[in-house]
Amino acid sequence: MNKINYQKELEKTINGIVKNNEKPKLLLHACCAPCSSYVLEYLSNYFLITVLFYNPNISTKKEYDYRASELERLIKEMPLVNKVDLDIMKYDDGEFYDIAKGYEECKEGGERCFRCYELRLRKAAKYASEKNFDFFTTTLSISPLKNSEKLNSIGEKLSIEYKIPYLFSDFKKKEGYKRSIELSKEYDLYRQNYCGCVYSQRDE
Ligand code: SF4
Repeated sequence: MNKINYQKELEKTINGIVKNNEKPKLLLHACCAPCSSYVLEYLSNYFLITVLFYNPNISTKKEYDYRASELERLIKEMPLVNKVDLDIMKYDDGEFYDIAKGYEECKEGGERCFRCYELRLRKAAKYASEKNFDFFTTTLSISPLKNSEKLNSIGEKLSIEYKIPYLFSDFKKKEGYKRSIELSKEYDLYRQNYCGCVYSQRDE
């Protein structure tokens, strides 16, 4: 079976938006400032974005607050085409430990991660649906360590459940990951050396 090119899917959606001269409201789940940098540079040309920082997977509150503050600084400092809002959710790591229970020994990229993607995307879908956004998506697909097919299939499932379109994406394509590294250097962003949870820290 041919793999779906999710970057091409994104381009099709963007072409439709440009053709119809629209500026849809996008709820963008973000994991950290480095991953958001390229995604914001790219998508803020076409969407009115609210960034949702919801990552109960992050190992400590201190790390959570630092990643959130770097994201806040980036949004203030980047010359973005359209205004970008940010909503930082309260830290509650219990929500992550509930879904990770029984999957503590999985390696990064396994079932625990798929559950972690869904936890975060579900919050984004619910938020976007309740606040009447036009689309929701996540920055997560920019990382070469994240499974884009899984992310997009979870997004599609939740889009049906919450009745809100998921913006398909594979941000690592078209040199997106490389550009995120350049922007991280340019804005001197904190780039963590582990994904987020205590298990990814353990396996570093
Ligand atoms: S390694 Fe990353 S994606 Fe996987 S469970 Fe931990 S924080 Fe979530």
